[in-house]
Amino acid sequence: MLRSQRSVSSSCLFLLLLAATAHPQQHPIALKGTLVTPDDVIPDGTVLIEHGIIREVGAHIVLPANTIIANTGGIIAPGLVDLHNHLTWNIFPRWKPTQEFGSRYDWQAKPVYNLLMSAPHTALVNEGLECDAERYAEVKAITEGETSVVGGSTNHPECNRGLARNLDDPAELSAIPGVSSVEHGPILYNVFPLQMTESEFADARSALDAQGALLIHLAEGAPNDASAAREFTMLKGRGLFRPGVSLIHAVALKPENFAEMKDANVGFIWSPRSNIELYGGTANLPAALESGVTIALAPDWSPTGSDGLIGELQYAAAWNAAQGSQPLKPPLTDRQLVDMATVSAAHLVHLDGLLGRLEKNHAADILVVRPHSRRPKGDAWWSLDHASPEDVELVIIAGEPVYGDPAPMQQLAGGAPLESLTICGAEKRISFASEPQPQPSFAETEARLQTALREWGRNLAPLAECAQ
Ligand SMILES: [Zn+2]
Repeated sequence: MLRSQRSVSSSCLFLLLLAATAHPQQHPIALKGTLVTPDDVIPDGTVLIEHGIIREVGAHIVLPANTIIANTGGIIAPGLVDLHNHLTWNIFPRWKPTQEFGSRYDWQAKPVYNLLMSAPHTALVNEGLECDAERYAEVKAITEGETSVVGGSTNHPECNRGLARNLDDPAELSAIPGVSSVEHGPILYNVFPLQMTESEFADARSALDAQGALLIHLAEGAPNDASAAREFTMLKGRGLFRPGVSLIHAVALKPENFAEMKDANVGFIWSPRSNIELYGGTANLPAALESGVTIALAPDWSPTGSDGLIGELQYAAAWNAAQGSQPLKPPLTDRQLVDMATVSAAHLVHLDGLLGRLEKNHAADILVVRPHSRRPKGDAWWSLDHASPEDVELVIIAGEPVYGDPAPMQQLAGGAPLESLTICGAEKRISFASEPQPQPSFAETEARLQTALREWGRNLAPLAECAQ
């Protein structure tokens, strides 16, 4: 059972019920296209979705009589699972520091960081705009193919309701279809694990005892930064080097550290773009691969990382290809990269029985992307890790179409009101039916954030960085 359910308050339960019943899936939905299953790519396959669950996946399946069939012509994959983000900061445009830093403690102490990021963020939260920022960030995540996120609003969990799944929010975790069938504790997310209070440590230990997970930032700095490397020793001294823990960044770790992580069943969450932009290098990925540690990929935040996992997959694929320009071959396959954003990420939070796989009885969290024009349709993994945000055809969360191209959204959304977005010149539609109602329009949310940011001489970041 889901042990964290005991702590869900009655108001949370009400919100959950509201979210679950706002627009229940009326008919079974069948998506036809190229399927990326755990074992293979099925060129002309079908996924049958009913009551928020994947009922069947395969080349030849029998559909109930009232099924709505969508011929997507696309690549149908599990929704992307993001285990490293700082969502409310994704309202800020790209931050381009004029220097590389030694560690995160360097840039966080700079006046320019306070001026451009930290002070305006605090002011917007204090003004009551945290839910607007969270909403904007979750829309951004969904346009990047993400169906599950972490690092959302902690002071006001009501801001997290609807849109993407906030896995580190107990109410949203307990709303995953089928979650009551697995034993699972809370998922905790911590940016500064070495300054946790004793009570936070106690919570972390009890979450891990209860089959939960702890995702912590560690060793974030340049690959040769001694202070960042020291954090690894400090963490072990605190008794948190144990299964269920995953280390975000791990840039300064040595090959023997990854081997120790593998032995202790500790995971690794890799964020190459933000690492390279801030520190000039990223984690020793070949050593991590050699160790056999489970690796997830995640975008960090959009100011120095990617807008989301579509962008981070593209960045990681380019990084991978660039390693091959030396006398070495690229260390990763396209399939490994896609696994890092789906099944491996789900595995690190003990949810791979429910998320991250296009598989029967999993939650119907699904991403459909257009096949890449430079590759044959069957080369599905390559298309997924080279997709751009305008290539996202459809995103489904718990069986509900949330975002995508106008045609499939109008066909599948069951009459739910849709708002228009333009992503890199492509017309898209989005549904806010999963949020507690009523809500302002998305244009109003954007306008409120833009007005507040202008007081700081800043602009609201675009939803997507587009090819020029
Ligand atoms: Zn981070």
